[in-house]
Amino acid sequence: MTPSLDLTTPAARDALAVRTAVQQKPSLIGLSRAEMAEALVSSGVVPERQAKMRVQQLWHWLYVRGVSDFTHMFNISKDLRAELDRRFAIARPEIVEEQVSNDGTRKWLFRFPPRGAGRPVEIETVYIPEEGRGTLCISSQVGCTLTCSFCHTGTQKLVRNLTAEEILAELMTARDRLGDFPGRDTPDGAIVPAEGRKITNIVMMGMGEPLYNFEEVKKALLIASDGDGLSLSKRRITLSTSGVVPEIARTGAEIGVMLAISLHAVRDDLRDMLVPINKKYPLKELMAACRAYPGLSNARRITFEYVMLKDVNDSLDDARLLVQLLKGIPAKINLIPFNPWPGTNYQCSDWETIERFADFINEAGYASPIRTPRGRDILAACGQLKSESERMRKVDRLALEAMMIAGHGEA
Ligand code: SF4
Repeated sequence: MTPSLDLTTPAARDALAVRTAVQQKPSLIGLSRAEMAEALVSSGVVPERQAKMRVQQLWHWLYVRGVSDFTHMFNISKDLRAELDRRFAIARPEIVEEQVSNDGTRKWLFRFPPRGAGRPVEIETVYIPEEGRGTLCISSQVGCTLTCSFCHTGTQKLVRNLTAEEILAELMTARDRLGDFPGRDTPDGAIVPAEGRKITNIVMMGMGEPLYNFEEVKKALLIASDGDGLSLSKRRITLSTSGVVPEIARTGAEIGVMLAISLHAVRDDLRDMLVPINKKYPLKELMAACRAYPGLSNARRITFEYVMLKDVNDSLDDARLLVQLLKGIPAKINLIPFNPWPGTNYQCSDWETIERFADFINEAGYASPIRTPRGRDILAACGQLKSESERMRKVDRLALEAMMIAGHGEA
């Protein structure tokens, strides 16, 4: 027997109706200015002649002030605010869990309401503070279709793509939690300056392959980098791909953000195992796409991510091949000590091996920082918090079922 929702009382039915109505209201977040104007006019809430001005007002409240409730938009009349609230949503997702590591790393599990006939979904977002900067790692899909063998998210089936609204909601909710939006009572002009912000950089490196969700990722990143809103410089936004070659040129031309490649191996036979999309787009094609990346220069280098796996990809021969492979590409190599997760067969390379590898690449002229392991006390390997939350729910459900069988849990 599984517990079910009791809809026998009118109050419960009303509550569900309200909740469903709230979830079904279209969101204004994630729309371009033109789409927002169209939504306001076609819903009859705003006359066409006012659309541009209203969009400007809403854009400011949503993306500069970070307001998530129409009632706080003080320069909009009370009646219009009520009408906007009746027709549109701007609320944040539910925060299922927030973990703060000893080193200041924060990890959130966000829950988004169902889309259409689907179920609510949960995704992870991680904030990593460092000296002089703070990076938010954002997810683009719920789960992933790719099965990179060292990646915990690769063990989770793809549920669906995130929408532009949901991708932006990760950034905006993280800014709420970190106090990165000015208070709504702050007078005009006292907006938090760029240098005072906690989130200075974003990386599309969370759950999912962003280039398998190109259109929504593009919409979200163009809004995140809009100078009259969230205002993150495109040079501080990095999109990381496992190597979806056909979309790489579009990323540079249409989004214009920095590119990172999840490389992890320098021979096709090994990369086929670690990053199986390599079977479709092997290293030769991937490197050609990198060389042709729009805007590539010494000031706009491509980051190559390389997870250090003991006795798998960490030899000096690998380092040598890596240098050959990257010849002629303005590049930086991020060496990532593997963060083991329950059930993995891989181990992290020894520290001396990682340093030897880094020194070799460095001497060849490439910056090769070793990423400091962060948030190890809070399940910070990608996808772990989501798995843990699902495991706990299963434990709770089984315990509840056991109680009901024993006659203690009648709903
Ligand atoms: S590394 Fe990225 S693309 Fe590969 S399985 Fe993990 S989330 Fe998917």
